[in-house]
Amino acid sequence: MRVAIIGAGISGLALAYYLQKLGVPYDLFEAGAQVGGNIRTVKMHEYLLELGPNALQNTPELEELVRELKLEREVVHASPENDHRYVLRDGIYKRLPSSPFALMSGNFFSWKTKYRILKEKDVPPADIDYETVEQFFERRFGHDAARYTVSPFMTSLYAGDPKQLLVKKALPRLKELEMRYGSVLKGLAQQRGGFAKHRSFSFAKGMRTLPYAIADKLISLHTEHRVEMITRSQGKYVVSCASSGDYDTEEYDLLVLALPAQQAAELLHYTFPGLSAALQNINYPPMAVVHSVYNRKEVTGQLNGFGALHPQAEAAFACGSVWSSSLFDGRCRPHEVLFTTFVGGGQAPKKALKEREQLMRRVHEELAALHLISADKPNFQHVHLWKHSLPQYDIYIEDAHQLAKGLEPEGLFIAANWQAGVSVANCVHHAKELAHKINLKRPGHLNR
Ligand SMILES: Cc1cc2nc3c(=O)[nH]c(=O)nc-3n(C[C@H](O)[C@H](O)[C@H](O)COP(=O)(O)OP(=O)(O)OC[C@H]3O[C@@H](n4cnc5c(N)ncnc54)[C@H](O)[C@@H]3O)c2cc1C
Repeated sequence: MRVAIIGAGISGLALAYYLQKLGVPYDLFEAGAQVGGNIRTVKMHEYLLELGPNALQNTPELEELVRELKLEREVVHASPENDHRYVLRDGIYKRLPSSPFALMSGNFFSWKTKYRILKEKDVPPADIDYETVEQFFERRFGHDAARYTVSPFMTSLYAGDPKQLLVKKALPRLKELEMRYGSVLKGLAQQRGGFAKHRSFSFAKGMRTLPYAIADKLISLHTEHRVEMITRSQGKYVVSCASSGDYDTEEYDLLVLALPAQQAAELLHYTFPGLSAALQNINYPPMAVVHSVYNRKEVTGQLNGFGALHPQAEAAFACGSVWSSSLFDGRCRPHEVLFTTFVGGGQAPKKALKEREQLMRRVHEELAALHLISADKPNFQHVHLWKHSLPQYDIYIEDAHQLAKGLEPEGLFIAANWQAGVSVANCVHHAKELAHKINLKRPGHLNR
């Protein structure tokens, strides 16, 4: 049995890695010269810039992967005091409570809101079709909690709009807790590690360390092989690739798409037009990532955290910033600080498309006002535009999920962030499960 995997972002790489461990023959095709997809670290002057993910959640699966790849020495953890989030509230940054005790004892929420949050235990569960994340949080925790926690977190997780994202799709665990325990808070309290936080981590040389290390282990990775066409013949998938002017065609028993929805749609146009059409409807809002470096002494405000999130209610320009140099060492020179700011996403897509100069100026002005920065301009600034940032788990993604599931008996599988969940941890988890599922399809696997 031969498997073709198309796309060497973290999803395709992780799948190839787990299949290889199980002894399943595969070919992994990547259009670009480099692997990693959304995971992109750039070294520019003295600065280590993350254009995509900045940090990973320390899940058991990622921990295991890091150990197997012998990357432990490369790992850098956010110190506990620098791993909390701030949220813009009434024009100033307030630390977001990270535990039930901090929530009740701190002053982030008014007493009225705290009381309403505690009353969540008494709100009866309800299975509402197409309930959005915002509706779910308003129903269970009240308006204020929804406005100041959900809106900024949905931007940071999905580049998304809680008014559009479906709770069952975007936050399935919370919805399950509601249905199983009758309340999210009761469910969290009863689950082992329910309120526990995973510490964020990265690597000394940046996030690209992970995909590059996986790629180094793979025996059947083909970079600069853009898959141009997929057809079916006698139950097999015929995969046609363009590479250095040549055109290769190979046959496979199973096909795994590890591609963004739009690229997958193009490849499936003739073979599976229904799924192709559904994939074209998945929304990927644009997001600009702006890096800004200042002299540390010019920044009066404290930077002891992961970063800050801006709820839509505050009408700020950016969605928020990661305080990259506080989070991990080695991101800029010791006398400087580096901010990674996000603009656009599902809540304000047009902002991401502003002129580069305007983006840099607006980001600088907002950082200067919020962090009391005296410099007229940053020492360094850089803009990267993701024209199609992340898939939105809204009503349009449902059809694609259903149709893709229905094609599994035909030997077509998905390993991509529009199916697995968007975090790198989600993609790795899904890839591992899929590798085991594919392994079960091997002829005679039960006898092995
Ligand atoms: C700005 C930003 C910030 C983020 N921050 C975080 C974060 O802090 N933490 C976190 O966990 N996650 C974060 N994410 C999400 C996470 O990075 C992505 O969801 C994940 O990396 C997606 O991986 P993937 O393999 O599914 O897809 P992709 O990374 O999109 O990979 C798809 C691959 O397919 C290749 N390809 C496309 N067409 C073809 C073709 N025809 N033939 C062959 N190859 C092809 C592409 O070149 C690419 O390498 C962020 C994402 C973005 C954009």
